[in-house]
Amino acid sequence: MIYLNIDSIQKTYRKGDFVLKNFSLKIPKGKIISLVGESGSGKSTLLRIIAGLENRDSGEIFLENTRILNPKENLVPGFEEIQLVFQEYHLYPKSTVEQNISRPLLLFEKEYRKARVEKLLNLLGLEIHRDKLPKELSGGQQQKVAIGRALSLEPQVLLLDEPFSSLDTIQRRELIAELKTMFDQLGVTVIFVTHDLDDALLMTDHLVIIQKGKLIQQGGAKEIFEKPKNLYAAKLFSHLNPIPDKTRTYIRPSDVQLFKTSGIPAKIMERKYLVHYNQLTVKLPGGEQWLIEDKKRIFEVGERVFLKWNASSEIKF
Ligand code: ADP
Ligand code: MG
Repeated sequence: MIYLNIDSIQKTYRKGDFVLKNFSLKIPKGKIISLVGESGSGKSTLLRIIAGLENRDSGEIFLENTRILNPKENLVPGFEEIQLVFQEYHLYPKSTVEQNISRPLLLFEKEYRKARVEKLLNLLGLEIHRDKLPKELSGGQQQKVAIGRALSLEPQVLLLDEPFSSLDTIQRRELIAELKTMFDQLGVTVIFVTHDLDDALLMTDHLVIIQKGKLIQQGGAKEIFEKPKNLYAAKLFSHLNPIPDKTRTYIRPSDVQLFKTSGIPAKIMERKYLVHYNQLTVKLPGGEQWLIEDKKRIFEVGERVFLKWNASSEIKF
């Protein structure tokens, strides 16, 4: 059943210049999706519109049967049921972790407030930090507090706008895994915005790809990886090598096999030692430069290597 219905949203900041173009997306209750797209593709604008914090030019947003009002239609813009979390934490610097999380609950009964804050501190593993000030926490812990605060009002929808971009890779991966478990437990519907596909996939398998304000493709990661709609969607996953003499046909570096004696000859121009393989830049007979993966780390710069791949791995547009 559709829970959050984003229907034909159009948005311009300057006349004629569409930031969102006929953008529609339907999300079932409790689903976590990742919205992925390059910087400037309209992700933040879309989230602000869903949260009722930005006016749309046309189109509608419904949360179940409730129409989300534009700020210009609403005395106090925004909805309790839909909370937005940004990259910057915006915590109250002079309030403790516990106070920061309970702040939105000031008007609620003391008993309820206490129970809710305890639950969130527990779910987020922040009990031992409850009396600390934000500056005494790591970036990851501060972001957890911000998410705890956003969850305090029991929102049905959580919108995360690149919330982990300021964290280092290890912190980020741990936090994403932890939060994913928590979101599943709470049954909250989540739109996770990122430009990093690895982050997106750690959170959920369900991707929505946005390019220049348009929804390009949505579905499971495997499906999009194997059958990307366009070059932009394909390149989110990896570099693509254009196949000579075949127009608009590409092969991923990970799908190219390396041999010492037979295949398409190529000369190794450059070698980079990466975490899982050596990345080689090679020159094909026609002069094209390709990136390939030497997983065994056996080839040297200047050497010749022979390339093969399965025709079924070729990506055509
Ligand atoms: P993303 O979050 O994907 O990077 P944004 O939604 O922030 O994309 O921006 C999409 C486009 O809209 C960009 O070209 C940006 O410059 C423009 N834009 C965003 N916010 C405003 C604003 N308040 N006023 C004018 N232009 C804006
Ligand atoms: Mg943004």
